[in-house]
Amino acid sequence: MRKIELDDKIWGELGTQNLPELINEFTKNPEVDSEIFYELVDCIWDAGTCEPAFFVAIPHLIDIASNLEFCRAKDLWSYLGSWVSTHKKYCEEVSEEILDLFYSSLRYAEKVCAESIFKAGKLSGIDAVYLYAGLFTFSKHDLGYMTMSGYKDDLEGTSVAKCENGHLNDVTVYNSGIAAYEEKEFPSSITVPDLTSINYHFEKIDDNPWLLFEEGIQKLIKNNNISKEIKAHLRLSELIVKHGVKPDLPVKYAFSLYGSLLLCNGSIDESNRLFHGWDKIICQECGQEFIFADGWCESCL
Ligand SMILES: [Zn+2]
Repeated sequence: MRKIELDDKIWGELGTQNLPELINEFTKNPEVDSEIFYELVDCIWDAGTCEPAFFVAIPHLIDIASNLEFCRAKDLWSYLGSWVSTHKKYCEEVSEEILDLFYSSLRYAEKVCAESIFKAGKLSGIDAVYLYAGLFTFSKHDLGYMTMSGYKDDLEGTSVAKCENGHLNDVTVYNSGIAAYEEKEFPSSITVPDLTSINYHFEKIDDNPWLLFEEGIQKLIKNNNISKEIKAHLRLSELIVKHGVKPDLPVKYAFSLYGSLLLCNGSIDESNRLFHGWDKIICQECGQEFIFADGWCESCL
């Protein structure tokens, strides 16, 4: 994988002379709960802010994760997914050459991380939530912001969605459905995506790593214990993985796929929460009804 060498003068120009040494140390001892790791993170990312060196360092960290056994790499992949999900606001200042290497490293991460998840078999619920969302990040899809999002939080999450008139609506997210902010849980049924009215042009991506998940999804489609509502999400997901995830994939379709992957992993509660991304909510200000996922805008706040 191409990346800027550790002895390049760019590190000094970015004011991060010690970063190559930290990356070197971390390569030798890639523990994410070490002082070296914390120091390294301080140089590149802070609570959603990507420092200039971020774009140069990420390809190195992706390279390190790619060369580790999955049990050691998974937490690093989860961190990478979270950080990269916040990068868009900061890439304007970055040179074309650096950005080019950064994006080709994401493409590589998407492939290697998908293969590792696939080979790993069953993941813990929490790992699945982070790692699958991370895959969307590496595909440059906004849903990757789920690694940071309150939507994914256990038991009660929070999130925000915009109606067509631009009003922001805060909501509370339960596994059983989405309610207005701090309103009590009232279980809603799962909305069935209408596959006959898809107005998105699917185009196959080259060397599509998402295809690995096709068989697992097809198995669940054949499973008699799965409801017809959820099967509709699975069928939509089957269509998506056949083509791959592109950045312009409508967010609600990405919700369906994320839910389906979690269900394939046996993470039933987590998957229900994502299928409820299709819930209709009513704008608190103008009364307009809209599909939550269509207005989901946590990532752009
Ligand atoms: Zn409104």
